[in-house]
Amino acid sequence: MVVALKKGTPPEETRAFAEVLEQQGVTVHISQGASQTILGLIGDTSRIDEERLRAQRLVEKVLRVQAPYKRASRPFHPEDTRIAIPADGKVKTIGAGTFSIIAGPCSVESPEQIIRVAQRVKEAGADFLRGGAFKPRTSPYSFQGLGEEGLELLLTAKKETGLPIVSELMDINHIDAFDEVDIIQIGARNMQNFPLLKELGQRKKPILLKRGLASTLQELLMAAEYLLAGGNEQILLCERGIRTFEDFTRNTLDLSAVPGLKRESHLPVIVDPSHACGLAWMTPALAKAAAAAGADGVMIEVHNNPETARCDGEQSLTPEEFAPLAEVLRKYAALEGRTR
Ligand code: PEP
Ligand code: MN
Repeated sequence: MVVALKKGTPPEETRAFAEVLEQQGVTVHISQGASQTILGLIGDTSRIDEERLRAQRLVEKVLRVQAPYKRASRPFHPEDTRIAIPADGKVKTIGAGTFSIIAGPCSVESPEQIIRVAQRVKEAGADFLRGGAFKPRTSPYSFQGLGEEGLELLLTAKKETGLPIVSELMDINHIDAFDEVDIIQIGARNMQNFPLLKELGQRKKPILLKRGLASTLQELLMAAEYLLAGGNEQILLCERGIRTFEDFTRNTLDLSAVPGLKRESHLPVIVDPSHACGLAWMTPALAKAAAAAGADGVMIEVHNNPETARCDGEQSLTPEEFAPLAEVLRKYAALEGRTR
C-alpha cells in the first residue's frame, strides 16, 4: 500500500505517523521527495483500514497495491483450490481442473418428487443433487420450503442415489439440521449477511457462496474473505446473474465473472444459468457458454414436472431436457481434459 502525504508535512510528523502505522503490523518505508513524502507499507496490509487512513489529516492519497481480499487472492494461494467431497465411498473433487454438475429442483416438495428427480439427474451424470428446504422468497405468501422435513427428504434422496447434496442455509439457528448436507449454499440475498458468514467461517463445511443481486466481483470476494478469515477454506463462488436494465431475462448472466474471478482468486467458480436467465429454453445455451468460459461447474434447476413446481418452474429443465445437456457439458469438459 502506498500513502502519499500532504505537501509540507514536517519530517517529525511523518516519522510519528509511520510509527503509528507500524503498530498495525506493517513495515513503513519513507521516501522523502523534494516536495512530497511517500510512505510504502510493506507486509500484510489486509487489516489496514483504507477509509480511516484517507481520513487522516496528513494523508493526500492512498493506493492499494494488494487486493483487500488477501486470502481469496491468487498471489496468496497460486494453486487452484481443490474441494474434496466424500460421496458413496469415493471422493468427488470440485475445482483444480475438474468440471462438476449440480442439478435438482429449486425446492424439495415431496418424497416422490425429490427421489424421482435425484434418480433422473444421477442417471444423466450429475455429480451433486440440489434442493432448497429453506427458501428465500420475495413474497411472504409464496411457498417457503418444507424446512427440516425438506432436508430429511434430501437426505433420503442422497441415501437412495449416493449423490452428495447442496442446500441453502438462511438462518444460523438451523445449522445443526445441515450436519449431513455436503455443501451449504449461501444465497444471493445473504451474500453480505456478515454474522452468518462469520459463523460459517468457523465451520469446516464446504460453502457455495452466491453472488449478490447487485454485488461487484470485489464484494463477492470480500464475502468469501469473511469465510476464509475464519479458517474455512472450502469455498465455491457462484455467478447467478446480476440486476441490470435488461428485463428480457430474470437477471443478466455476467460471464466475464468466470475468467475474472479465476484470475483474481484460487477458489472454484460455479455458474447457475437457471437463476441468471429464469428461462428453461435459454438455460442450456448459457450452461454451455459457462463451460466454455472456464467455469468449474454449473448448477441447473431440474424438475420432473416444471408445470406443477412450487417454485421456479419456468426456469426448470425436465429430466429429458437435462440429460442431453449434461452429456454435451461432459464432452466439452473432456475436450479440455477436465474430468472428475
Ligand atoms: C436458489 O438457488 O434456489 C436461489 C434462491 O438462488 P439465488 O440465491 O441465487 O437467488
Ligand atoms: Mn430457484
